[in-house]
Amino acid sequence: MGKIIAIANQKGGVGKTTTAINLAASLAALEHKTLLVDADPQANSSSGLSVNPRDVERGIYDCMVEGFDPAELIIQTEINHLDLLPSHIDLAGAEIELINLEEREFRMKKTLASIKDQYEFIILDCSPSLGLITVNALTAADSVLIPVQCEYFALEGIGKLLSTIEIIQEHLNPELHIEGVLMTMFDSRMRLSNQVVDEVKKHFEELIFETLIPRNIRLSEAPSFGIPVIAHDAESKGAQSYMSLAQEVLVRNGIVVA
Ligand code: ADP
Ligand code: MG
Repeated sequence: MGKIIAIANQKGGVGKTTTAINLAASLAALEHKTLLVDADPQANSSSGLSVNPRDVERGIYDCMVEGFDPAELIIQTEINHLDLLPSHIDLAGAEIELINLEEREFRMKKTLASIKDQYEFIILDCSPSLGLITVNALTAADSVLIPVQCEYFALEGIGKLLSTIEIIQEHLNPELHIEGVLMTMFDSRMRLSNQVVDEVKKHFEELIFETLIPRNIRLSEAPSFGIPVIAHDAESKGAQSYMSLAQEVLVRNGIVVA
């Protein structure tokens, strides 16, 4: 039964999409069958895996709003064991259309129910908002992984995210738990980066992943080639750090022993 992990933080530019693509690709590289679901109307996860959102006729939106079968819309990527359920621009409209639908918070959960068993991991790349699509993702998920960028005001907005998670646990998804907090764009030479990690540790303690994702040029280049960083430069620090994150996720889930 696939474990569903939502990558969420309503702040933009903190590394959600980079983490979604590269965690999914690293789990796949370790031979765990993984589905990446692009739950952001900006469709960066789709384009980051060579799928032009303009060419996508139907995606997660059509499953959530129109009831299309996701199995028919899933795309096999060039990476072994990695599939993609793409997004297209219409997903932005879903935010509004969902409001009037029955069980509007449960549409993504319903969509994923029929394919959950075919994967070991399903990674949801969320949009930078706490709107209905993200609420759907958190309702469908088993856990949430929160990327936090090593910069000033790193914790800004985290309180709001945590209270949203609590509300969802209370009303929509009692099983939801925090998979972990991931520090991104870490620069060991910068005192600020180290200070931010210390600060976030004070709040989250053991929830912080030991793996810190460094600021790495290969990570920012890879999407322009439409491939995950392991396919772009497997030796790079960026690729190695996401492999190490994948290992940590496997250990946290009791799938491999530390
Ligand atoms: P989000 O999905 O949270 O908006 P992205 O993953 O799209 O954030 O990252 C924002 C920008 O920062 C992108 O241009 C991405 O390539 C870049 N980026 C993300 N993580 C790193 C990293 N560790 N090192 C270098 N650049 C990064
Ligand atoms: Mg994104």
